[in-house]
Amino acid sequence: MAPAKYNYSNFTDELRTRLSIVDVVGRRVALNKKGQNFWGCCPFHNEKTPSFSVNEEKGFYHCFGCGEHGDIISFTMKSNNIDFRAAIKELADQAGLKMPDYKPKSDAQIAREKSYVDITAGAAAMYQKKLFEECGAHALAYVRGRGFTDDMIKKYGIGYAPKNNLIANSFANVRQEMLISTGLCRRGDYGMYDFFRDKLMFPIFNAHGQIVAFSGRSLDGSEPKYINTTDTDMFHKRQTVFGLNFARDAIHRANRSIVVEGQIDAIKMQTGGFPETVAPLGTALTEDHIALLCKSNRNITFCFDGDNAGQKAATRAASIVLPFLRDNSDIRFAFVTGGKDPDEVLKTAGAGAMRGIIDGAVGLTDFLWEIVNKNYITSTPGGRAQAEKFLSKELEKISDPALRREYESEYNKRKFNTWRKWKKNDDKGANIALPGVDEITKNTLVYITNAYPELAERYVDFLGSLNISFDADAPDMAMDKIAAEKYIVSLKLQKYLEKLKAEQKELTAKLLSGDGDVAERLKEIGREIEKCHDKIDKLVFI
Ligand SMILES: [Zn+2]
Repeated sequence: MAPAKYNYSNFTDELRTRLSIVDVVGRRVALNKKGQNFWGCCPFHNEKTPSFSVNEEKGFYHCFGCGEHGDIISFTMKSNNIDFRAAIKELADQAGLKMPDYKPKSDAQIAREKSYVDITAGAAAMYQKKLFEECGAHALAYVRGRGFTDDMIKKYGIGYAPKNNLIANSFANVRQEMLISTGLCRRGDYGMYDFFRDKLMFPIFNAHGQIVAFSGRSLDGSEPKYINTTDTDMFHKRQTVFGLNFARDAIHRANRSIVVEGQIDAIKMQTGGFPETVAPLGTALTEDHIALLCKSNRNITFCFDGDNAGQKAATRAASIVLPFLRDNSDIRFAFVTGGKDPDEVLKTAGAGAMRGIIDGAVGLTDFLWEIVNKNYITSTPGGRAQAEKFLSKELEKISDPALRREYESEYNKRKFNTWRKWKKNDDKGANIALPGVDEITKNTLVYITNAYPELAERYVDFLGSLNISFDADAPDMAMDKIAAEKYIVSLKLQKYLEKLKAEQKELTAKLLSGDGDVAERLKEIGREIEKCHDKIDKLVFI
C-alpha cells in the first residue's frame, strides 16, 4: 500500500486565518503593544523584563531571551506540552471550527479524484467546442454581445451546454456513479441525463487550477439566471470564490482584493484593469469566502450594485468581515449606481470611471455608521436603543480587543455628535450670555445654526459650551456655508487662545514668585499659542 497522504495544510491555513496569534498567546501571556509588536514575559524561560515579542501581521512570536520562536501551532504545542494533532484540536476549539476528518486518502480515492477532474476537464473542452458550432450560435452571440473576445473565452474556458445530453452520451463508457458524482449528470426514469442544458458555461477552478464544477447561465431569460453544480466531494460552493485562481497573484501585487456580485462582472473586471477581482458563487457571501481572501491579505473592497439587493449584500459583507478585522485591515464598500453593474460601467465609461468608483469607496467605519442610521430611527429614544444594541452586537465580533475599543470610542463620538442634537441646550431655557460672547457674535451664531444645522451638529461641543440659547429668532443675514464654518472655527480658536493666555498669565506669576516647577508647561503653552495664531492667519487667507 502507498504511504498515507495526510493533508493538514488547508486546515492549518484556516486556523492561522481565523485566529490572531495575539489572542492565542494572550490567553497565557500578558501582552502590551509597543511599536509594531506586542511584548510580554517569555513563557519558555524565566524572566522579569519582557523580551518575548509577538508579531500580529506575520503570525509569529520570537523570544530575544531564549530564542524560542514559532506560530500559533508551535506555541500551543509547547505551552501545553501536547502533540501537533492535539494542538490543532485545541486551536479548532478556540476558533469555533470543527476538526476535519483526517483520514488518509486511499488509492481508490486518489483514483476517483483523478477520474473526476478528467471528466470535468473533458466536459469543459466539449462545451467550448459546442460554443463555436451551429447549436451554440445563440450562446456565442450572447457572450460576444457582452464584450467577450475569443481570447477571454479561451482563458476562462467559457462554453455552451447544448439541449441534448452531451455529457451523458459522450461518457457512456464511464461508470454512472462516477459521472453522477461530478454533478454533471443525473439519473432519471429514462436513464442518465445532463444537469446543464442550453446554458452558457463557466468552469469553476479550485486552488490547483483544476476544473471542479460549472456555473451555467440561462440564455432564454428563464430564472434562475445562474445554476451551479451542487456540492460534490471536490466542490463546496460556500468555500469557492469565483476567479480566485486567476486573481491570486494580482491580489498579492495590488495588496487588496475586489469582490463583485457576479461572475461576468468578475471576468470583465479582471480583464479590464482590475485583475484582483473575484466574485462569490451565487449571491450569498460566506465567512469561508472572506477567510479564503484573507489568506492573501485583509484589504477587501466590496463593489456591489447600488440597488436594494446590492445594499443588502454589502450590509451582510460588513457583518461577516468584522471577525477578520485587524488594525491594518482596509475594508471598503463601493456602489455602482444608476442601475448599472461593473461590466456596464467598464463598457460605457471605461476603466477610469470604474477606478473612480473603487477609489471613492467608503471605509468600513463610515459604512457601518450609515447602516445604523439608515435602519434605525435615531431621533427617538427607542430607535436609538435599538441602534445601540445592533452596533454593540456587531462590534463584539471584532476579535482584537484594542481595535474593538477604538471602534467603540469612535462610534461613541459619532453618537454624541449626531444623535444628541445641539438643541439639547434649549431646555436650559434661560438666555445666558457668557462673558466674551457679545451680542453680535451671539446673533451671528444663532443665524448660522438655523441656516446650517449640519454645522451646528458638527460643532455641537463647542457651541454647547457657550451656553447660548439658540432658539432665539434668527437675525436677517447672508453668509455662505464656508464663511459660516470659518466663523465658527475662528471663534473656537480665539476662545482657545484666550484660555491659553489666561493660563500663561497665571503660570508666569507663579514662575516669578518661584512657586512650583512650571517652566515646561509655559514653554508648551508658548508653542500652542504660536500654533493657534498660525491657524487663525491661515483661516483668514483661505
Ligand atoms: Zn524566552
